[in-house]
Amino acid sequence: MQFKHIIGQHEIKQQLIQSVKQGRISHAQLFLGGEGVGALPLAVAYSQYINCANATDDDSCGICSSCVKFEKLIHPDLHFTFPTVAIDKKKLSNDFIQEWRAAFIENPYIGELQWLLKLDEEGKKQGNITADECRDIFKKIGLKAFEAKFKTVIIWLPEYLSQEGNILLKLLEEPPVGTLIILVAQDADKVIATILSRTQLIKIPRLSDDDISKVLVEKYQQPERDAETLARVAEGNMALAISLVNAGRSDYFELFQSWMRLCFNARKDIENLTKWVEDCVKTGREFLKSFMGYCMHMMRASFIHKYGDNKMLRLSNQETDFVTKFSPFIHSNNLPELTKAFNDASFHIERNADLKITFLELSLYIGSQLKKAA
Ligand SMILES: [Zn+2]
Repeated sequence: MQFKHIIGQHEIKQQLIQSVKQGRISHAQLFLGGEGVGALPLAVAYSQYINCANATDDDSCGICSSCVKFEKLIHPDLHFTFPTVAIDKKKLSNDFIQEWRAAFIENPYIGELQWLLKLDEEGKKQGNITADECRDIFKKIGLKAFEAKFKTVIIWLPEYLSQEGNILLKLLEEPPVGTLIILVAQDADKVIATILSRTQLIKIPRLSDDDISKVLVEKYQQPERDAETLARVAEGNMALAISLVNAGRSDYFELFQSWMRLCFNARKDIENLTKWVEDCVKTGREFLKSFMGYCMHMMRASFIHKYGDNKMLRLSNQETDFVTKFSPFIHSNNLPELTKAFNDASFHIERNADLKITFLELSLYIGSQLKKAA
């Protein structure tokens, strides 16, 4: 992974490159950024840059023997730890390394749920990083570097480490010479404090709408107007933007429109609502998670609509018609509650909650919020 293949993030790239040029590579770093902002590809590009034989002022060469191995994630001094599904608690990240390489090469912006679904298609099992895995990290670090300047361990989603994470503390405090440990996290509140305090924090900002929209046009053949709209919905999350492209956006609108009607009448027409929920949950967790993103976007659009800044919304004609009628029901007395409800639902979708119950409860809650006075 070369820096030039990473979307946006020019300042972070420069900051990382400068740290290498000035010999200030901190041995334990925490790359912190929301889903789909590129923290994981940045971690890979950074360690590729450090180990490149012919690095220039702004990138690794991409062709030296170290780079060639990094591009395929097969460099013997590059190690990964990531959540795996607990089919067999004895299994380690290494047992899934083929799947991991293929998934990263296909989409370096892969989200947590997308990854777990690759290991467990039905999405019924909980992801985990085990104590055995932590001990394995010690083993990997203990190996002498084969050929790299810096042996690197990238730990993706340390949020999955609870008390077993304390096994790593000594390693983070005093890593052996010539090792680099990069933790790539999305939510600092969910990383155990003892780990947080022992790493140097690098905050990765969200991507700009323009950065995302440009990629959607160039790489995903989206018409410019659609790309701009998708980028707004994705809110800086490239993983979500790709999910939205794959799902096809017209589905979202129709689904959203019929759902809101049913939520309004939830108590009177529970039968049709239940049917809607049953059909909806069949679409699968990944679609549902991106659908939550779309719903939040439409809620905000309905709120903003009242203040006349419609150009900013970049809605389709259908959506504009809907938002015009829906707007009186969204106001400062329910927007925060609704946004939180969609966020919570999104979290539950990811963490294997019962989808039918989640959506039925959410529908009833939305129904009650929509009836709240402005
Ligand atoms: Zn190189």
